[in-house]
This record gives sequence, structure tokens and C-alpha cells, in this order.
Amino acid sequence: MSLLIAKTFPRGGGDIPHRKSATDHKPIVVMPAPEIAVIPLQQHIGAPCEPVVAVGDKVKMGQVVGQSKAFISAPVHASVSGQVVAIEERPLANGQKALSVVIKNDGRDEPAGGTKRADLRKLAANAIRQAVKDAGIVGMGGAGFPTHVKLNPPKPVDTILINGAECEPYLTCDHRLMAERAAEMVQGLLAIMKATGAAQGVIGIEANKPDAIAKVQEAIAEYGELSVAILQVRYPQGAEKQLIKAILNREVPSGGLPHDVGCVVSNVHTAIAVYEALSLGKSSYERVVTVSGGAVVDPRNVLVRVGTPLEELFEFCGGFLGEPEVIVCGGPMTGWPVQDLGGPVVKNMSGVLALTKEEVGFDENLPCIRCERCVQVCPMGLTPNLLGEYSHMGMYKEAERIHLRDCIECSLCSYVCPAKRALVTWIKQGKAGLAAEKAKEKVS
Ligand code: SF4
Ligand code: SF4
Repeated sequence: MSLLIAKTFPRGGGDIPHRKSATDHKPIVVMPAPEIAVIPLQQHIGAPCEPVVAVGDKVKMGQVVGQSKAFISAPVHASVSGQVVAIEERPLANGQKALSVVIKNDGRDEPAGGTKRADLRKLAANAIRQAVKDAGIVGMGGAGFPTHVKLNPPKPVDTILINGAECEPYLTCDHRLMAERAAEMVQGLLAIMKATGAAQGVIGIEANKPDAIAKVQEAIAEYGELSVAILQVRYPQGAEKQLIKAILNREVPSGGLPHDVGCVVSNVHTAIAVYEALSLGKSSYERVVTVSGGAVVDPRNVLVRVGTPLEELFEFCGGFLGEPEVIVCGGPMTGWPVQDLGGPVVKNMSGVLALTKEEVGFDENLPCIRCERCVQVCPMGLTPNLLGEYSHMGMYKEAERIHLRDCIECSLCSYVCPAKRALVTWIKQGKAGLAAEKAKEKVS
């Protein structure tokens, strides 16, 4: 075992409140399966799936219910055993609708069965990729990118980084998984290395998770090709480019991806899902979600089935102390507001937060006072004040000239702005506006 002490990324960044103490010490709890599971046919970046079951069909837990022939896609699976009672548009947590397979749970948890493998070291790279694809594994840190695609990088890679930074406030699901299931994560990492041909694996963990660091160090003890990088507690340490810079001192070029600098980054939970798919033959139909925020009675990390309505998840955590000011999916910095509590848990949902008015603060959008705090903290070396201004005014080409597309949407600029300007909201709108403008130009 070797211990790699990495400092942090060199540019921008800042301290933000962690607010993790409500859940970071509590063991993961298992929530009973829902009576009705709503399985959206798109839970990933890429092509949506087509249903491969019909209303009235009996399904088993872990059985494929949606499939796509597209390379960039991932199948979806039943999270309970029971009967398909509808295939129809159902609301998602973000307020949009998606074609979904609705399953009435028969309470039996009858497993579909999968291929169990005793010795993962004997698996060939393409067998690993195929099993990961069949299991429907996607990036569980929030991105939702199909993992089998990542395991097939177009350029040689020498390193797999496991992102255990979890720098977003409130979220602790990766922390708890590392503290409780480090050995499984390590097996998943070794399989990812085999699939990609990478010779070394590094698990990056922020220094505020000493119990997780100790467990992971213990789990890698017999593997000389693995190491732990202890990272400074600094936002956004878990952003992919910042993580790579901190650990490997490699700079992903503008518009580039980690494989351009010889590495692949995977999330903690994703690595565990890879282990489960290969070793247990288990598909991706449940996950650990951090349920937290000042408006939640009993914040905790919950192992919950995909397809469980968010309102049931909150009820499992004791419900609300009062009316939440806002409910956020993901962390408060990079997450998005929940519009429909009837929407289901999906594969890439790392947390749901019910926040009070005091936690949310205020949003005034006062005039810019040119203090440049946003510029000082930007980890990408951008000028967020100008990017926000141009985007807000619809001057997308001007924003593009000052590297609009390099923004990683970490929200730190908005967080530090004393005028509480909605910089990142405008920047996101600017990116969408620029893409629409370019598409229009292409057509004409
Ligand atoms: S949201 Fe974008 S512009 Fe703002 S600090 Fe983060 S990277 Fe910089
Ligand atoms: S931090 Fe806010 S007020 Fe200061 S320069 Fe940036 S946008 Fe303007």
C-alpha cells in the first residue's frame, strides 16, 4: 500500500459550510420496497429505452423492463417483483414527464437471477464491460453517464480515479459507503482497471472523512497498484477536472475529457455497483440516497429502491418539521429544485434535501459592485461576472469568446457574490442559448 498526499487544485475554490454532521456518522438504513414502483425508461444520458414488458406481465426483481439498441444508453430494471400495471408517462422529480413502467409490488422480492462470479480476476475486459452494460450501471454521482461507455475509452488510460471527495454540503452517501463497504468498492475499482487496461487506481478522499480513509486504506492494503489520495477540504474538490489536477497534476484541456489525459474517473457508488454486477449478478435497481436538510425530522442515508416516490422516502425519514423552503435533488451547489414529490428515486440521485428558509438564505440579485470575488474563487479561471452578464443579456457569442463552455457549473461564484447575483443560473441559460443559436445556424 502506498499513501499519496495530494494537496488540492491550484486555482480558485473556497470554503463552504459542510453541513454533513446530521448524517455522516449514521449507518446506512434499508428502506422497505414501495408498494408501487415507477421505473422511468430514461435514467441516464443518452438514448431512452423502449419498454420490453407489457401491461399485465409478471416481472422479477432485477429483470430488464426497458432496453435500447443505442451504444450510449443503459437498460432499466424492475426494482421489485410483481405485475406491470401501466406503461405510461409519469412525472419525474424535476417536473417533467417520462415514459415509465409501473409495477405493483407482490412483496416477494423474487430475484431475476444473474450470473454470479467467484473470481473477478479471471474476467476478461470485454466480459466486464458487457456485464456492466447488462446491469444498467450509470454514473451514480449525479452525471448518469452509462458506465460501460466509460469503460471503453477511445484513448489509452493508465489511471482510474475513484472520486470520494464528496465536497457538496449535506451529502454523505459516498462517505458512508466507503466507511461501510470499502472492500466492495475496491473490487469494483480493480474490475474497472481491468476493463480499461489502467495500471493504477487512486481513491481521492477529502480529509474530513477520517473513518472512510482508514477503511479504504485497510481495504487496499494487499494491492500495490492502489493508493489513497487525501485531499484538502475545499470546494469544488470533487469536480472532475479539479480532482484530476489535484491527484495527478494533469490538466484536462478545454472541451476535453479525462481520457484525454490518460485517466477515467468513477464514483464510489458506481464502483460498488460494478462489483455487485460482476460478483452477485445484480443489476442497478437500488441505491443509497442522502436524505437531509434542516426541514427533515430524521436525516439519514437510505438504501432505497429505484422507483420509490420521493414523498415516501421523506416519510421514511420522519417527514418534515415544517414546510420546507425548497427541496433540492443532489447537493445545494450543483443540484436542482424538486418540483414533484411524487417523482421517483432514479439511479443517479445521490441526495434529496429539504431546506429551511434559514438554510436557503436570500436571493436578491442586486447590482454588481465589481468586487471580483466571483473571479477570485472560480476554479476554472473564468470571469463569472461577465459570463453571467453576457448570458443574461442574450450575448451568447460574446460569452463563448470568454469561455462560457468551460464553466463547470459549481455555483461557487453565485455563493460568494455579495450582491447575490444569479450568476450560475444565467450561465446555464447562456449555454442553452448558445447551443440553440448554433443549432439554428447549422440548419440555415
Ligand atoms: S459556476 Fe462556472 S463561472 Fe462560476 S465559479 Fe464555477 S466554474 Fe466559475
Ligand atoms: S462577486 Fe458579484 S458583485 Fe462581485 S464582481 Fe462578481 S458578480 Fe459582481
